[in-house]
Amino acid sequence: MALSVVDIYKILPRTNCGDCGYASCLAFASMVVSEKVPLSRCPHLDPETVARYQPELDAQHAAGKWTRRDLAADAHIWARERAASMALEDLPARIGGRLTTENGASVLELPYFNSTVRISADGIRHADGTEAGRWEQVFIYNHIAQGGRREPTGRWKGLQEIPNTVSKIKSMQAHAEAPLRQRFAGRLDELVAAAERIGGERITGGGETADISLRFTPLPRIPVILRFWEGDDEVGLDPEVKLAFDETIPEHLDIESIMFLSEQLTKMLMAPEA
Ligand code: SF4
Repeated sequence: MALSVVDIYKILPRTNCGDCGYASCLAFASMVVSEKVPLSRCPHLDPETVARYQPELDAQHAAGKWTRRDLAADAHIWARERAASMALEDLPARIGGRLTTENGASVLELPYFNSTVRISADGIRHADGTEAGRWEQVFIYNHIAQGGRREPTGRWKGLQEIPNTVSKIKSMQAHAEAPLRQRFAGRLDELVAAAERIGGERITGGGETADISLRFTPLPRIPVILRFWEGDDEVGLDPEVKLAFDETIPEHLDIESIMFLSEQLTKMLMAPEA
């Protein structure tokens, strides 16, 4: 059987030191399996381990094994295992939401954008009963596994101000900020309408200097602000978009999950009106 992201993750030091150029050991494992990044790029892995696993990886790359779909399945298994030790009953105090029961079993109802997800031992479902998407579940399981108790403080930080995020700044610009800028420049009324459809609200005052500042609450402990500056043709100032996160976000999400959240928010804002 092909080596999976989880298999590789298990042999890594799991310190998330970033010396390989990736923000976490999981991110590195994912790149080793899917993008042929050599194991030796982790300087903390002993040569014997590299020698043992690299030939097998080379063989599966040559055979073209492992697709993005497989990665989603693998990340899902890993995140679910990671969250499995958390008792549902303890979660409202840590990540918010409300505990209820269904057929005698505990279910956590967790606000998610302008709706809720229902989390049980069987998985994660949307309020309408449909199963949440794979990457959506990975995101929520990671939050369950990592989420600390701290409430948001209301002090906002850009991605570059959050530790160990350097490798993701360009990705944030390419996959969230630039598409939003292109879609909504000159159409801020459409941006506000799209934001309101997913539970966002316009905020003013409090030192906000953008032309539009929108606050979203994707999950109870994880607010996000989107700031949009229209720019000014006359002085050659281009439009600008920035996402900002509460300073407590590293206690609740790893960097991969912060990126998923940002891309998900972008996708939801750009979705055509139903
Ligand atoms: S170098 Fe990368 S893979 Fe190795 S321990 Fe540090 S973060 Fe993990």
